[in-house]
Amino acid sequence: MSTPALNLEQALAVPGPVHTLPPLDIAEGLISDPALGAVARKLRQGQRLERADGLALMDSKDILGLGAMAHAARLAKNGRKAFYVLNRHLNYSNICLNKCTFCAYWRDEGQERAFLLSPAEAGAKAQERPDQAVDEFHIVGSCHPSLSLSYYLDLLAAVRAARPQATLKAFTPVEIDHLARISGQPVKDLLAQLQAAGLGAMPGGGAEVFSPRVRDKLCPKKISGKRWLEVSAAAHSLGIPTNATMLYGHIETAEERVDHLLALRDQQDASGGFSAFIPLSFHPANTGLENLNATTGLDDLRVIAASRLLLDNFPHIKAYWVMLGPKLAQVALNFGADDLDGTIVEERITHMAGATTAQGLTEADLRRMIAASGFTPVRRDSFYRHLPSAQAVSADAR
Ligand code: SF4
Repeated sequence: MSTPALNLEQALAVPGPVHTLPPLDIAEGLISDPALGAVARKLRQGQRLERADGLALMDSKDILGLGAMAHAARLAKNGRKAFYVLNRHLNYSNICLNKCTFCAYWRDEGQERAFLLSPAEAGAKAQERPDQAVDEFHIVGSCHPSLSLSYYLDLLAAVRAARPQATLKAFTPVEIDHLARISGQPVKDLLAQLQAAGLGAMPGGGAEVFSPRVRDKLCPKKISGKRWLEVSAAAHSLGIPTNATMLYGHIETAEERVDHLLALRDQQDASGGFSAFIPLSFHPANTGLENLNATTGLDDLRVIAASRLLLDNFPHIKAYWVMLGPKLAQVALNFGADDLDGTIVEERITHMAGATTAQGLTEADLRRMIAASGFTPVRRDSFYRHLPSAQAVSADAR
């Protein structure tokens, strides 16, 4: 089945009103942690949470109480819908100037496993499996030391020509800042140029943790958190919806997690263009932090639930199945998440850091995972408009 054509006018109108949470229906008996009980009372009254509330969420061992609170917020925002997208990841290069300590993906030019796709190669990849619908290309790479802006414009043009109906969700704020610098343009002018070349939305990578302490230690060459937010705001001002992320589970503190989330909430209040927040659990294998343990499932659920409750003005919270694993992603749908991401087809970044999940899932897999968790699967486009399923759901959802 073909993907319905995107209407650019509609797409540009997407960053819509910012929603806060209504008073939530949270049963008292579900919460055993007194600190959480105080937060639940605020949520029942429709009050916005503060930093101290965020710390209570992030520190609580009462995972079921936290889950009940986040689930109430999730139901208020998105009902029993759980979204997925027919997407493909397209990584154009891993040759990167920044060399972040936590990154297993970057390489120097000429090093083993370094790669750079030409625009023609990217276009050919985009054309693979023409029988399968693609609603979105997720295009991210690196801060390449020698490419000029024309490469990136040609890359967008090649993918656009290959699949004109798919949205190009391309380039994190870190890459956008890099392109602005190499092209000598203000960010907003650069974004307008990329938008004219087909960029329809932006991914939310590169946010990591905004704390300068963490960035100085783990990614000193990367743009600051303040700059990351400025680039996102510039995109929002042009009607380009973007996502936001937090890479957690390395050296950050609970306070730094909460401050990161509150900075995103403030930015969303101001510019209103974030579609989804995606907590990313750190995978230490093959990185400069290999000595660290991976996050536990409980910590993953805690971060998802706390995010849903603190980010009251974010429409969607994503359980990124590549990092969580499909089974925990299913559980996360009951802890505040309402989106599983998508089919992906070929994931490189997390797999170079030792992820053992599949490279991609089929639409039937995603629908089955969602239905088996008791939610209604909804195929969406990059702007969370509902699309008809491309594939009949198996009669046996379990
Ligand atoms: S995280 Fe991004 S910016 Fe940092 S080294 Fe990896 S590819 Fe480069």
